[in-house]
Amino acid sequence: MLNRWSQTDAQGLSDLEMLAYQSRLVGADPALVVWGGGNTSLKVSRRDFRGHEVRAMLIKGSGSDMKAAQQKDFPAVRLEDLLPLFERGEMSDEEMVAYMERCLLDPGSPRPSIETLLHAFLPQASVVHSHADAILSLTNTSNPTGMVRAALGGDIVVTPYLRPGFLLSKRVAQAALSRPKAKGVVLLNHGLVTWGADPKASYDTHIELVRKAEEFIQQRAVGKLPFGGVKVEPLSREERRRVAATVTPGLRSALSAAGESRTLLRFVEDDQVLRFTGSKEGREVAKAGAATPDHLLNTKRVPLWVEVEEPSHEAELRDALEQDAERYRQEYTQWFREHAVPGLGMRDPSPRIITVPGLGLWVGGRDARAIEAASDIYHHTIAIMAGAQSVDVYSSLTMKDAFEAEYWPLELYKLTLLPPEAELARKVAFVTGAARGIGRAVALRLVQAGAHVALADLDAEGAKDAAAQVCNEAGAGRCIALPLDVASPEQVAAAFQETVLAFGGVDILVSNAGIAPSGTLDQLSLAQWQKSLDVNATGHLLVGQEAVRIMREQGLGGSLVFIATKNVLAPGRGFGAYSAAKAAEAQLARVFALENGAYGIRSNIVNPDAVFHDSGLWSQELREERARAHGVPVEALEDFYRQRNLLQAFVTPRDVAEAVLWLAGDRSAKTTGCIITVDGGVPEAFPRE
Ligand code: ZN
Repeated sequence: MLNRWSQTDAQGLSDLEMLAYQSRLVGADPALVVWGGGNTSLKVSRRDFRGHEVRAMLIKGSGSDMKAAQQKDFPAVRLEDLLPLFERGEMSDEEMVAYMERCLLDPGSPRPSIETLLHAFLPQASVVHSHADAILSLTNTSNPTGMVRAALGGDIVVTPYLRPGFLLSKRVAQAALSRPKAKGVVLLNHGLVTWGADPKASYDTHIELVRKAEEFIQQRAVGKLPFGGVKVEPLSREERRRVAATVTPGLRSALSAAGESRTLLRFVEDDQVLRFTGSKEGREVAKAGAATPDHLLNTKRVPLWVEVEEPSHEAELRDALEQDAERYRQEYTQWFREHAVPGLGMRDPSPRIITVPGLGLWVGGRDARAIEAASDIYHHTIAIMAGAQSVDVYSSLTMKDAFEAEYWPLELYKLTLLPPEAELARKVAFVTGAARGIGRAVALRLVQAGAHVALADLDAEGAKDAAAQVCNEAGAGRCIALPLDVASPEQVAAAFQETVLAFGGVDILVSNAGIAPSGTLDQLSLAQWQKSLDVNATGHLLVGQEAVRIMREQGLGGSLVFIATKNVLAPGRGFGAYSAAKAAEAQLARVFALENGAYGIRSNIVNPDAVFHDSGLWSQELREERARAHGVPVEALEDFYRQRNLLQAFVTPRDVAEAVLWLAGDRSAKTTGCIITVDGGVPEAFPRE
């Protein structure tokens, strides 16, 4: 544990700047806090709105992230209003939250942390609170007080586990006040609080104590194998990924009850995970449960642990995953029934962490952010468990305390404040030809509508750029970029495998990649003809087959959208290789519709025309050729196409993306085998039999 304080950086900072600086230092170390955990405060004087000087406390806002702490993240609360609460016997979370809102010096500031009173009741000016891994390794054992004393010495106060809230704040303050010389308080199954006259002092003590805990654990770990050593050797990386991708759609099906709470999944297989899941003791240790209440909210109390004789046997593994997922849900339901008060609704009973020794683990969640949080936190849980096993035996919250943490009314209330889910939330789309033009606009539109999207393109760098920009604009973590030649069966299989490992499956395919060879038939070489068939027909077959295979295994329906062309219905002179191959694409799309209706998988076609913007299809060469064919100057070509449609409209990628969005989502749930034109109205290309 590194002390990151820099006298140079801290010099000349105002009190608020200093607090933000201290918080960023704490946040910089994920072994101290992750994902909005922990908090810091500083007691200061301020002038209120009438110009009167008052004692105030600057405290981290609820849920804000320490590593990126800014001055605005620290609302000021009036201490004079908070301190009388110390005399109270109890106070509900709701009452406390409402009360604290009235103590804000500046109405409209962020909501103060739920642990505000803990900071306020302590007399010292500066207070730091973290959920440090090493401290949890000491407290989550069979003899927590003994471990804390042995590691940190006698001048530490230890308080028993209580859910965060009024009572915990009061108990911590009482304990600290009764031991004025103590350096800090260790909260069992929760974390560490330290204090000082200024931010540097409280930070230094914090780091010193965590460092002591780490050293104690390291000394005790000498000569011990983590989690008792290896039980199952991992499969090779290639094998792990192949097996995982094969069974993931079935797992997603098992976890997505009735299609309502469909989940996303990410496969994780780093060394830490492989060592833990393949160890002798991992399974028993993990049963004890999550390390702290805030971890539990992200990862659930325990993982689903699935063991099979031979993890490389996919059929056996698939069955085991399905059966064990069902068992997990039943046990969760049982646990809920044992502890729930009448009227309380049960949360999703599916696991968030699913481990298979020798293979790795999956992290499930509603979106990439939830998955990232659960994944990070579970990695820390593994580290905490390893530490606890080094010094003693890992233990955690009782079943009752764990239940009260997961069904903490304040957390349930927060869930009711979430905005309704977006149209394509919890859905995964695979878009080909996504580096530019229509494909890129489609990817952006789908991400804006809540989807997670794989952007595939022959131009791998272009796909990366597009994915980065789409993510940046519409949703961090919700895109991946893949190199893909749609005419290569191997590359298609590999790209879908990556998508399944990253997001858990595929719900939407937008088959858009294409090329536009031109030239009259008498001039056409066989190679040009074949190339057009490979990309514009076979390419759509290959991605369609792969998408349908995954969708059928998921059992959650699906939507295929084929980007064809006005030429399917009204071919152009000099465009034979293109028009014929695209007609094959359209016919394929309809046969996909015929063959997959019974699985709830729809297949539809969008026919755009003359979409020039950012197009990879409309090369300069093609523009010149088409201009010649139509007898117009090349610079007038776009306008020529505009003039020839009924609406005299320029058709943009965005226009095509809107049609794709409608076909991709449930608003078109009753539509399959259909063509939508996005061409400004070209009469000879009206769909008709
Ligand atoms: Zn805490």
